[in-house]
Formats: sequence, C-alpha cells, structure tokens
Amino acid sequence: MHSGPSISHVPSANHAPTGFYESAEKIYPREVQGRYAQARRWTVVVLLGLFYAVAWIQWNGQQALLFDLPARKFHVFRLTLWPQDFVYLALLLIVAALSLFFFTALAGRLFCGYACPQTVWTEVFIWIEQWTEGTRSQRMKLDHGPWTTHKVLRKGAKQILWISLAVYTGFTFVGYFNPIRGLVSELTHFTLGAWATFWIFLYSLATYGNAGYLREQVCKYMCPYARFQSAMFDKDTLIISYDTDRGEPRGARRRGSKSTLQGLGDCIDCTLCVQVCPTGIDIRKGLQYECIACAACIDACDGVMDKMGAARGLIRYTTEHAMHHRQTRVIRPRLFVYGALLLTIVGVISYSLTIRKPLILDVLRDRNTLYREVRGNHIENAYTLKIINEDDQPHSYQVQATGLAMLELVDPIGAIRVPPGTVNSVPLRLQAPAEIAAGVHEISLRLSALDQPTLFRIEKTRFIGPAL
Ligand code: SF4
Ligand code: SF4
Repeated sequence: MHSGPSISHVPSANHAPTGFYESAEKIYPREVQGRYAQARRWTVVVLLGLFYAVAWIQWNGQQALLFDLPARKFHVFRLTLWPQDFVYLALLLIVAALSLFFFTALAGRLFCGYACPQTVWTEVFIWIEQWTEGTRSQRMKLDHGPWTTHKVLRKGAKQILWISLAVYTGFTFVGYFNPIRGLVSELTHFTLGAWATFWIFLYSLATYGNAGYLREQVCKYMCPYARFQSAMFDKDTLIISYDTDRGEPRGARRRGSKSTLQGLGDCIDCTLCVQVCPTGIDIRKGLQYECIACAACIDACDGVMDKMGAARGLIRYTTEHAMHHRQTRVIRPRLFVYGALLLTIVGVISYSLTIRKPLILDVLRDRNTLYREVRGNHIENAYTLKIINEDDQPHSYQVQATGLAMLELVDPIGAIRVPPGTVNSVPLRLQAPAEIAAGVHEISLRLSALDQPTLFRIEKTRFIGPAL
C-alpha cells in the first residue's frame, strides 16, 4: 500500500454545476512578493533566456544545438550524434526520468513549481497580463465591465504581446530542428517551407493557448505527471503544507493582538493564500493534487504573519512526518536507489562519450564474386568500405590489411579524405598469391586517421581464395 501523504481532490469552485459539464472558473492570481516569488522570477529569466539564446549560438560554423531530423544528426556543440548513437538518446531519456523520480522523492513537485515549461511560460504570460491590465482587482473589474476604448486598448495590447511572444517561442522551438538562421532568411525572403510554417504555427498556438488560457487546467487535467507523482511521494517528501495545529481555529483579529488570548490560531482567514494560488486551491484544506508547489501561498502567508507580528511558516515547506512531530529522514532507501542509478547512468554516458571515436567503418564484401584470379597468379577480393566521419573536422584516412601473409592492398593506395559529418563509400581491393590464398581466411582492416593516430577503427572480414 502506498505510504505517501494523502492527496485529496477538493473542488475549488463552490458553485453547483448547472449542466452536464461544469465550466471552468477563471482564476485571477493575485500578485505576490517574497523570497520564493523572487526565486521563481530568476528561474524563469534564466530558463527562458537559455531557451531563446542557445538556438543562436554557433559552434565551428554551425548551430551549436541542432536536432537535424532530416539529416538524422543531433549536433550538441562539438558532439555530433548519428543514428548509430541512438543509445545515448535512450540513456538521456532514462536520466531525465530518473532525475524526475529522484527530485520528486527528495523535494516534491519542485519541477512543477519552478522549471516546468507550463509554469515558466504561464508566469511570463501573467506578467504581461499584469503589465497591460493591472492588478488582480483591476483585471477582474475590466473583465466584468463593458467594452470601452480603455478595455479594447488594454486587451489589445495584451493580445499583441501574447501573440508576439507565442510566435517567437514557436519560431525558436522550430529553430532547434531547422537551422534558425536559415529560418530567418527563409522568412525574410518569403520562402519558408510548408512544414516549417506548420510547426511554427502549431507551437505558437500551443504556447498561446496553454500559457494564456488553459494555464492551471493543463496541470489539473492534462499533465500525466500530476497523476502519478503521488506514487513517488512518501511521508518524508518535501511538500507545501498549512500547519493546522498552529493555524486553527482560524479567525479575524486585530494586528498585533495575541491569537491565543482570543482562543484563536494564527490564521486570520484573510484568504490571501487562496487568492495568490495559480491553481485556485485552498492549501488549508490539505495537500491536493492540483498544488504545483509554487510556494506563492507561503510568500503570501509569510507577509501576513510579518504584519501580524507572528512567526513565519504557518504555510511552509515541510514533510508529513515533520507536521506530525516525527523525525524526517532526508536520506532514505528510495533516494539511494534513484541516486545510485542516476549516477551510474550519467557515469556510463560521460565515460563512453570521452572514449567515443567519431569514426564508423563498415566493410561490405563484393556480393557478386567470391574471388577473382588476376595476373601474376594472384587472387583478388573486392570490398566496399563505408566510412562515416562523425567528427566536426575533415580527416584523411589510410587502410591497412592484416591477417594473411603477403596480403597486398591494391586499391585505394592513397589517403581517403572524408569531410566532416559525411559518409564516403570507397571500393577496396586486396590481393594475395594463389598458393597462400586458398581457403577462407579471417583478416582485419584497420582504418586510421593520418592526422590523429588515436582515431582508428578495426573491422574483421574474410579473404576467400580457391577451395583447398
Ligand atoms: S494567508 Fe495565512 S493567514 Fe491568511 S488565510 Fe492563508 S493561511 Fe490564513
Ligand atoms: S497551494 Fe500554494 S504552492 Fe500549491 S499551487 Fe497553490 S499557491 Fe502554489
């Protein structure tokens, strides 16, 4: 049985449904100041800054981070990953999943509250909304008031900024899959392809819709993580919680007055914690799955406690064990398991990337002829070398064949030059005296870069002569 804290679903709207479906009530989150709001602001600036800036970084004359799907190549600064390196992608996905498990077990929904793209873009869209339409009460008044020039101008300004940001976001996103500078050039010359246009439009629409309108509904109804994260919670997981023992019975009182003297708890029932909540829940009703752990209610309540002259932390980051006056164990077996797996896979990826040779050699035997008799009583075998230079530098390679006495490479004699990131198919012919060549022999082909002796590949193949 799951031992984590119980997460209940408490309806936020208290009006009765009038039809089969209850329409979503628009949430007007109140502006909040405080240390966690500050931390989120910085996180948003850094994450969005990285998203918008990294697409423009060039590395060795090409886009530093580019998932070139048509060419089936992923460029990550110096590193170019080919379809043969698919294992890295699989490992990276495992690392992402394990990181989520690890940090959720350790710190709850930290990702949701600070780093989830939905949170990050919604935060910026709300900044724009506050900037163009004003504070919470001004926005509510504007929405409920008649259409006036003032309302049209404010709503119009908001829409222009929202759409511009959404389109730029869609454009940048597509710029990670199509070289972004090329996209700019195509855009300015009106030659943008149908697919690029479609994806830019789709991602712009998704940004606009999710961050502008759906907001908390994405977290509540669409996000699968919200559904299964409770399975990763236990009683030692960091959660945001209201201290019922300290807060109840709640009730209004004068600033500076002692709550205990009036038989009250510290909560003055100002509902500020509810007004700032982006998902519209009341944390005082207990931990709910809609809570994205943004800590806005902590900031709001800390501000109230400061004004009331009471200690901060009526709503705080805590654990269920701590709330029940039990000891919290930060280091627990599941953290060890997640952490150990994470470190192992990250170690494997790092090690294999450091020893990875950006060179692939495939040897294909000529399928039409097993062998040919050539002048000088020699036997010749023909092959095709498929050389993939995965490096970002051109290289010249030489081939050496070993494994049979007097085996001679007759073609190619000179160096084989392969430009960076390309595949070359090179015919190769080997000869050996007929008296030695009889039978089947396992031989090795060594392809090495002339300018970098450590860059080589050895492939085994067969040299076939007349039957013994
Ligand atoms: S902000 Fe604090 S004092 Fe105000 S209602 Fe919420 S918990 Fe009570
Ligand atoms: S309850 Fe608090 S932490 Fe949870 S979503 Fe609402 S404001 Fe954020």
